[in-house]
Amino acid sequence: MIKAKGYAAATPTTNLAPWKFERRDIETLDVQFDILYCGVCHSDLHQIRNEWFPGIFPMVPGHEIVGRVVKVGKAVTKFKVGDLAAVGCLVDSCRTCDNCKVGLEQYCTNGSVGTYNSRSKDGTPTYGGYSNTIVVHQDFVLSISEKLSLPAVAPLLCAGITTYSPLRYWKVGKGHKLAVLGLGGLGHMAVKFGVAFGAEVTVLSTSPSKEVDAKKLGAHKFVLTSDPKQIKNAKGTFDFILDTVSAPHELKPYLSLLKTNGTLIMVGIPPEPSQVPAFSLMDGRKSLAASGIGGLPETQEMLDYCAEHNIVSDIEMIDIKDIHNAYDRMVKGDVRYRFVIDMATL
Ligand SMILES: [Zn+2]
Ligand SMILES: [Zn+2]
Repeated sequence: MIKAKGYAAATPTTNLAPWKFERRDIETLDVQFDILYCGVCHSDLHQIRNEWFPGIFPMVPGHEIVGRVVKVGKAVTKFKVGDLAAVGCLVDSCRTCDNCKVGLEQYCTNGSVGTYNSRSKDGTPTYGGYSNTIVVHQDFVLSISEKLSLPAVAPLLCAGITTYSPLRYWKVGKGHKLAVLGLGGLGHMAVKFGVAFGAEVTVLSTSPSKEVDAKKLGAHKFVLTSDPKQIKNAKGTFDFILDTVSAPHELKPYLSLLKTNGTLIMVGIPPEPSQVPAFSLMDGRKSLAASGIGGLPETQEMLDYCAEHNIVSDIEMIDIKDIHNAYDRMVKGDVRYRFVIDMATL
Protein backbone atom coordinates (compact mmCIF):
# COMPACT_ATOMS: atom_id res chain seq x y z
CA MET A 1 0.00 0.00 0.00
CA ILE A 2 1.05 3.61 -0.52
CA LYS A 3 1.17 5.82 2.55
CA ALA A 4 -0.84 8.99 2.07
CA LYS A 5 -1.82 11.99 4.16
CA GLY A 6 -4.70 14.36 3.87
CA TYR A 7 -7.39 16.33 5.64
CA ALA A 8 -10.42 14.31 6.69
CA ALA A 9 -13.72 14.78 8.46
CA ALA A 10 -13.96 12.03 11.10
CA THR A 11 -17.75 12.51 11.45
CA PRO A 12 -20.39 14.81 9.88
CA THR A 13 -20.12 17.15 12.85
CA THR A 14 -16.35 17.43 13.23
CA ASN A 15 -14.02 19.79 11.43
CA LEU A 16 -11.53 18.53 8.90
CA ALA A 17 -8.20 17.60 10.47
CA PRO A 18 -4.92 16.00 9.34
CA TRP A 19 -5.29 12.26 8.76
CA LYS A 20 -2.99 9.46 7.59
CA PHE A 21 -4.36 6.73 5.32
CA GLU A 22 -3.36 4.35 2.53
CA ARG A 23 -3.86 4.32 -1.22
CA ARG A 24 -3.78 1.06 -3.17
CA ASP A 25 -0.51 0.00 -4.81
CA ILE A 26 -0.53 0.81 -8.48
CA GLU A 27 -1.85 -1.92 -10.70
CA THR A 28 -1.02 -2.48 -14.38
CA LEU A 29 -3.24 0.33 -15.69
CA ASP A 30 -3.01 2.74 -12.75
CA VAL A 31 -1.47 6.18 -12.64
CA GLN A 32 -0.18 7.68 -9.39
CA PHE A 33 0.21 11.41 -9.24
CA ASP A 34 1.23 13.79 -6.50
CA ILE A 35 -1.46 16.38 -5.92
CA LEU A 36 -0.31 19.97 -6.31
CA TYR A 37 -3.67 21.78 -6.13
CA CYS A 38 -7.26 20.87 -5.30
CA GLY A 39 -10.31 23.07 -5.85
CA VAL A 40 -12.92 23.55 -3.13
CA CYS A 41 -16.41 22.65 -4.37
CA HIS A 42 -19.67 23.39 -2.56
CA SER A 43 -20.40 19.68 -2.75
CA ASP A 44 -17.37 19.02 -0.50
CA LEU A 45 -19.19 20.83 2.28
CA HIS A 46 -22.57 19.23 1.48
CA GLN A 47 -20.97 15.79 1.73
CA ILE A 48 -18.85 16.18 4.85
CA ARG A 49 -22.00 17.52 6.56
CA ASN A 50 -24.16 14.62 5.29
CA GLU A 51 -26.54 17.04 3.57
CA TRP A 52 -27.24 14.84 0.55
CA PHE A 53 -27.02 11.27 1.86
CA PRO A 54 -25.27 9.41 4.68
CA GLY A 55 -21.57 9.59 3.89
CA ILE A 56 -18.59 7.29 4.43
CA PHE A 57 -16.36 8.53 7.27
CA PRO A 58 -13.57 9.42 7.74
CA MET A 59 -14.04 11.44 4.54
CA VAL A 60 -11.28 13.12 2.55
CA PRO A 61 -13.13 15.50 0.19
CA GLY A 62 -11.92 17.09 -3.03
CA HIS A 63 -12.65 16.34 -6.68
CA GLU A 64 -10.91 19.12 -8.58
CA ILE A 65 -7.47 17.56 -8.53
CA VAL A 66 -4.35 18.41 -10.49
CA GLY A 67 -0.77 17.28 -10.10
CA ARG A 68 2.21 15.53 -11.63
CA VAL A 69 2.58 11.83 -12.38
CA VAL A 70 5.11 10.03 -10.15
CA LYS A 71 4.48 6.42 -11.12
CA VAL A 72 2.64 4.48 -13.82
CA GLY A 73 1.56 0.86 -14.11
CA LYS A 74 3.26 -1.49 -16.60
CA ALA A 75 0.57 -1.21 -19.26
CA VAL A 76 -0.16 2.53 -18.95
CA THR A 77 0.04 4.23 -22.34
CA LYS A 78 -1.62 7.60 -21.72
CA PHE A 79 0.83 9.02 -19.16
CA LYS A 80 4.48 8.97 -18.24
CA VAL A 81 6.29 10.11 -15.10
CA GLY A 82 6.49 13.91 -15.00
CA ASP A 83 3.29 14.55 -17.00
CA LEU A 84 0.61 16.82 -15.64
CA ALA A 85 -2.53 14.90 -14.73
CA ALA A 86 -5.99 15.61 -13.35
CA VAL A 87 -8.92 13.83 -11.80
CA GLY A 88 -12.46 15.15 -11.49
CA CYS A 89 -15.53 13.72 -9.81
CA LEU A 90 -15.21 10.12 -11.03
CA VAL A 91 -12.53 7.45 -10.61
CA ASP A 92 -14.33 4.42 -12.08
CA SER A 93 -17.60 3.11 -13.52
CA CYS A 94 -18.94 -0.22 -14.81
CA ARG A 95 -17.63 0.55 -18.34
CA THR A 96 -20.15 -1.84 -19.91
CA CYS A 97 -23.59 -0.17 -19.62
CA ASP A 98 -25.12 1.87 -22.45
CA ASN A 99 -24.10 5.15 -20.80
CA CYS A 100 -20.50 4.11 -20.13
CA LYS A 101 -20.15 2.85 -23.70
CA VAL A 102 -20.92 6.31 -25.07
CA GLY A 103 -18.76 8.22 -22.59
CA LEU A 104 -21.52 9.21 -20.18
CA GLU A 105 -19.82 7.56 -17.20
CA GLN A 106 -21.45 10.10 -14.88
CA TYR A 107 -24.79 8.43 -15.63
CA CYS A 108 -23.47 4.86 -15.31
CA THR A 109 -26.51 2.63 -14.87
CA ASN A 110 -24.66 0.46 -12.39
CA GLY A 111 -23.36 3.41 -10.39
CA SER A 112 -20.10 5.17 -11.15
CA VAL A 113 -17.41 5.39 -8.46
CA GLY A 114 -17.01 8.91 -7.04
CA THR A 115 -13.57 10.32 -6.29
CA TYR A 116 -14.47 10.43 -2.60
CA ASN A 117 -17.36 9.37 -0.36
CA SER A 118 -17.86 6.37 -2.62
CA ARG A 119 -16.69 2.76 -2.78
CA SER A 120 -14.30 1.18 -5.29
CA LYS A 121 -15.43 -2.06 -6.91
CA ASP A 122 -13.60 -4.00 -4.16
CA GLY A 123 -15.62 -2.17 -1.51
CA THR A 124 -12.88 0.07 -0.14
CA PRO A 125 -13.81 3.73 0.37
CA THR A 126 -12.44 6.32 -2.06
CA TYR A 127 -10.58 9.36 -0.73
CA GLY A 128 -10.40 12.68 -2.55
CA GLY A 129 -7.99 15.41 -3.36
CA TYR A 130 -7.41 17.14 -0.03
CA SER A 131 -4.39 14.86 0.12
CA ASN A 132 -0.83 14.51 -1.14
CA THR A 133 -1.15 11.71 -3.68
CA ILE A 134 -3.74 9.64 -5.56
CA VAL A 135 -3.91 6.38 -7.55
CA VAL A 136 -6.45 6.15 -10.37
CA HIS A 137 -6.98 3.90 -13.43
CA GLN A 138 -5.62 5.71 -16.51
CA ASP A 139 -9.07 5.77 -18.15
CA PHE A 140 -10.23 8.19 -15.44
CA VAL A 141 -7.14 10.41 -15.46
CA LEU A 142 -7.23 13.50 -17.69
CA SER A 143 -4.42 15.26 -19.52
CA ILE A 144 -3.82 18.95 -19.03
CA SER A 145 -1.85 21.42 -21.05
CA GLU A 146 1.35 22.93 -19.63
CA LYS A 147 0.14 26.22 -21.16
CA LEU A 148 -2.42 27.12 -18.50
CA SER A 149 -1.93 28.24 -14.89
CA LEU A 150 -2.13 24.94 -13.02
CA PRO A 151 -4.00 26.06 -9.86
CA ALA A 152 -6.58 27.85 -12.04
CA VAL A 153 -7.15 24.64 -14.03
CA ALA A 154 -8.21 22.65 -10.93
CA PRO A 155 -11.79 24.02 -10.78
CA LEU A 156 -12.36 23.08 -14.41
CA LEU A 157 -12.57 19.45 -13.25
CA CYS A 158 -15.94 20.04 -11.57
CA ALA A 159 -17.16 23.64 -11.96
CA GLY A 160 -15.86 23.72 -15.52
CA ILE A 161 -17.31 20.49 -16.85
CA THR A 162 -20.59 20.94 -14.93
CA THR A 163 -21.29 24.11 -16.92
CA TYR A 164 -19.57 23.14 -20.20
CA SER A 165 -21.53 19.90 -20.61
CA PRO A 166 -25.10 21.30 -20.58
CA LEU A 167 -24.14 24.25 -22.79
CA ARG A 168 -22.78 21.75 -25.33
CA TYR A 169 -25.68 19.29 -24.97
CA TRP A 170 -28.29 22.03 -25.58
CA LYS A 171 -26.02 23.54 -28.28
CA VAL A 172 -26.08 26.97 -26.68
CA GLY A 173 -24.30 29.49 -28.86
CA LYS A 174 -24.73 32.19 -31.47
CA GLY A 175 -28.23 33.64 -31.61
CA HIS A 176 -29.15 32.39 -28.12
CA LYS A 177 -29.84 34.48 -25.08
CA LEU A 178 -28.40 32.65 -22.09
CA ALA A 179 -28.99 33.67 -18.48
CA VAL A 180 -26.68 32.43 -15.77
CA LEU A 181 -28.36 32.34 -12.38
CA GLY A 182 -25.85 32.86 -9.58
CA LEU A 183 -22.30 34.09 -10.03
CA GLY A 184 -20.21 31.72 -7.94
CA GLY A 185 -17.80 28.91 -8.81
CA LEU A 186 -20.14 27.36 -11.38
CA GLY A 187 -21.70 30.62 -12.53
CA HIS A 188 -18.46 32.34 -13.42
CA MET A 189 -17.42 29.37 -15.56
CA ALA A 190 -20.85 29.32 -17.22
CA VAL A 191 -20.35 32.98 -18.18
CA LYS A 192 -16.92 32.28 -19.67
CA PHE A 193 -18.15 29.30 -21.69
CA GLY A 194 -21.41 30.99 -22.76
CA VAL A 195 -19.46 33.98 -24.07
CA ALA A 196 -16.86 31.75 -25.76
CA PHE A 197 -19.65 29.80 -27.51
CA GLY A 198 -21.13 33.04 -28.88
CA ALA A 199 -24.30 33.39 -26.80
CA GLU A 200 -25.55 36.70 -25.40
CA VAL A 201 -24.96 36.16 -21.70
CA THR A 202 -26.88 37.80 -18.86
CA VAL A 203 -26.01 37.26 -15.22
CA LEU A 204 -28.95 37.03 -12.80
CA SER A 205 -27.89 37.79 -9.25
CA THR A 206 -29.29 39.08 -5.97
CA SER A 207 -26.09 40.94 -5.30
CA PRO A 208 -25.55 44.35 -6.98
CA SER A 209 -21.82 44.06 -6.27
CA LYS A 210 -21.59 41.23 -8.81
CA GLU A 211 -22.47 43.49 -11.76
CA VAL A 212 -18.94 44.81 -12.27
CA ASP A 213 -17.49 41.30 -12.05
CA ALA A 214 -20.12 39.87 -14.40
CA LYS A 215 -19.09 42.37 -17.06
CA LYS A 216 -15.40 41.74 -16.38
CA LEU A 217 -15.99 38.03 -16.95
CA GLY A 218 -17.49 38.90 -20.32
CA ALA A 219 -21.24 38.93 -19.56
CA HIS A 220 -23.17 41.27 -21.82
CA LYS A 221 -25.97 42.10 -19.39
CA PHE A 222 -26.83 41.96 -15.71
CA VAL A 223 -30.23 41.64 -14.01
CA LEU A 224 -30.52 42.37 -10.30
CA THR A 225 -33.12 39.79 -9.30
CA SER A 226 -34.07 41.61 -6.09
CA ASP A 227 -35.33 44.55 -8.19
CA PRO A 228 -38.93 43.83 -9.33
CA LYS A 229 -38.61 46.34 -12.19
CA GLN A 230 -35.56 44.63 -13.65
CA ILE A 231 -37.26 41.22 -13.30
CA LYS A 232 -40.37 42.53 -15.06
CA ASN A 233 -38.29 43.83 -17.96
CA ALA A 234 -36.52 40.48 -18.28
CA LYS A 235 -39.74 38.40 -18.53
CA GLY A 236 -39.88 36.08 -21.55
CA THR A 237 -36.44 37.00 -22.83
CA PHE A 238 -34.13 33.99 -22.41
CA ASP A 239 -33.72 30.82 -24.48
CA PHE A 240 -31.84 29.13 -21.65
CA ILE A 241 -31.25 29.71 -17.97
CA LEU A 242 -28.38 27.84 -16.37
CA ASP A 243 -29.28 27.67 -12.68
CA THR A 244 -26.05 27.30 -10.71
CA VAL A 245 -27.45 28.07 -7.25
CA SER A 246 -26.98 25.34 -4.67
CA ALA A 247 -28.87 27.10 -1.86
CA PRO A 248 -32.66 26.61 -1.61
CA HIS A 249 -34.49 28.94 -4.03
CA GLU A 250 -37.81 29.23 -5.86
CA LEU A 251 -37.85 28.28 -9.54
CA LYS A 252 -41.15 29.90 -10.50
CA PRO A 253 -39.84 33.48 -10.83
CA TYR A 254 -37.02 32.33 -13.09
CA LEU A 255 -39.20 30.15 -15.31
CA SER A 256 -41.16 33.31 -16.12
CA LEU A 257 -37.98 34.81 -17.62
CA LEU A 258 -37.83 32.10 -20.30
CA LYS A 259 -39.12 32.58 -23.82
CA THR A 260 -41.65 30.13 -25.23
CA ASN A 261 -39.90 26.75 -25.57
CA GLY A 262 -37.14 27.95 -23.26
CA THR A 263 -35.26 25.61 -20.94
CA LEU A 264 -34.10 26.07 -17.37
CA ILE A 265 -31.19 23.75 -16.62
CA MET A 266 -30.29 23.05 -13.00
CA VAL A 267 -26.65 22.34 -12.21
CA GLY A 268 -26.59 23.36 -8.53
CA ILE A 269 -27.98 20.87 -6.03
CA PRO A 270 -29.98 22.47 -3.22
CA PRO A 271 -30.40 20.10 -0.28
CA GLU A 272 -34.23 20.37 -0.36
CA PRO A 273 -36.56 19.41 -3.26
CA SER A 274 -37.88 22.32 -5.35
CA GLN A 275 -41.55 23.08 -5.93
CA VAL A 276 -42.57 23.68 -9.53
CA PRO A 277 -46.10 24.82 -10.35
CA ALA A 278 -47.15 23.07 -13.60
CA PHE A 279 -48.53 26.38 -14.90
CA SER A 280 -45.11 27.99 -14.95
CA LEU A 281 -43.95 25.30 -17.38
CA MET A 282 -47.19 24.97 -19.36
CA ASP A 283 -47.45 28.66 -20.10
CA GLY A 284 -44.91 28.77 -22.96
CA ARG A 285 -44.17 25.04 -23.26
CA LYS A 286 -41.09 25.42 -21.10
CA SER A 287 -38.70 22.70 -20.02
CA LEU A 288 -37.08 22.14 -16.69
CA ALA A 289 -33.94 20.03 -16.93
CA ALA A 290 -30.81 19.20 -15.01
CA SER A 291 -27.34 18.08 -15.89
CA GLY A 292 -24.62 16.37 -13.87
CA ILE A 293 -20.89 16.96 -14.42
CA GLY A 294 -19.70 15.28 -17.65
CA GLY A 295 -18.23 12.03 -18.89
CA LEU A 296 -14.54 11.40 -19.42
CA PRO A 297 -14.37 12.14 -23.18
CA GLU A 298 -16.26 15.41 -22.74
CA THR A 299 -14.15 16.42 -19.73
CA GLN A 300 -11.02 15.94 -21.84
CA GLU A 301 -12.66 17.89 -24.69
CA MET A 302 -13.42 20.73 -22.25
CA LEU A 303 -9.83 20.80 -20.94
CA ASP A 304 -8.50 20.89 -24.51
CA TYR A 305 -10.98 23.64 -25.41
CA CYS A 306 -9.83 25.66 -22.39
CA ALA A 307 -6.16 25.27 -23.38
CA GLU A 308 -6.96 26.38 -26.91
CA HIS A 309 -9.05 29.37 -25.82
CA ASN A 310 -7.05 30.26 -22.73
CA ILE A 311 -9.95 29.72 -20.32
CA VAL A 312 -9.29 29.03 -16.64
CA SER A 313 -11.10 29.62 -13.39
CA ASP A 314 -10.69 32.81 -11.33
CA ILE A 315 -9.30 31.57 -8.06
CA GLU A 316 -8.19 32.45 -4.54
CA MET A 317 -5.41 30.20 -3.29
CA ILE A 318 -5.59 29.03 0.32
CA ASP A 319 -3.53 27.03 2.79
CA ILE A 320 -5.26 23.83 3.81
CA LYS A 321 -5.40 24.87 7.46
CA ASP A 322 -7.76 27.70 6.41
CA ILE A 323 -10.30 25.36 4.82
CA HIS A 324 -13.07 26.07 7.34
CA ASN A 325 -12.75 29.79 6.91
CA ALA A 326 -12.97 29.15 3.16
CA TYR A 327 -16.16 27.09 3.63
CA ASP A 328 -17.72 29.90 5.71
CA ARG A 329 -16.90 32.42 3.00
CA MET A 330 -18.11 30.07 0.24
CA VAL A 331 -21.50 29.68 1.95
CA LYS A 332 -21.80 33.48 2.10
CA GLY A 333 -20.88 33.72 -1.57
CA ASP A 334 -17.75 35.63 -0.60
CA VAL A 335 -15.28 34.05 -3.01
CA ARG A 336 -14.09 35.25 -6.39
CA TYR A 337 -14.66 32.65 -7.69
CA ARG A 338 -13.19 29.41 -6.50
CA PHE A 339 -10.94 28.51 -3.61
CA VAL A 340 -8.03 26.29 -4.52
CA ILE A 341 -5.91 24.58 -1.90
CA ASP A 342 -2.15 24.77 -2.35
CA MET A 343 -1.35 21.20 -1.41
CA ALA A 344 2.24 22.13 -0.54
CA THR A 345 0.71 23.48 2.70
CA LEU A 346 -0.53 20.04 3.77
ZN1 LIG B 1 -17.86 19.58 -7.39
ZN1 LIG C 1 -21.80 1.98 -16.58
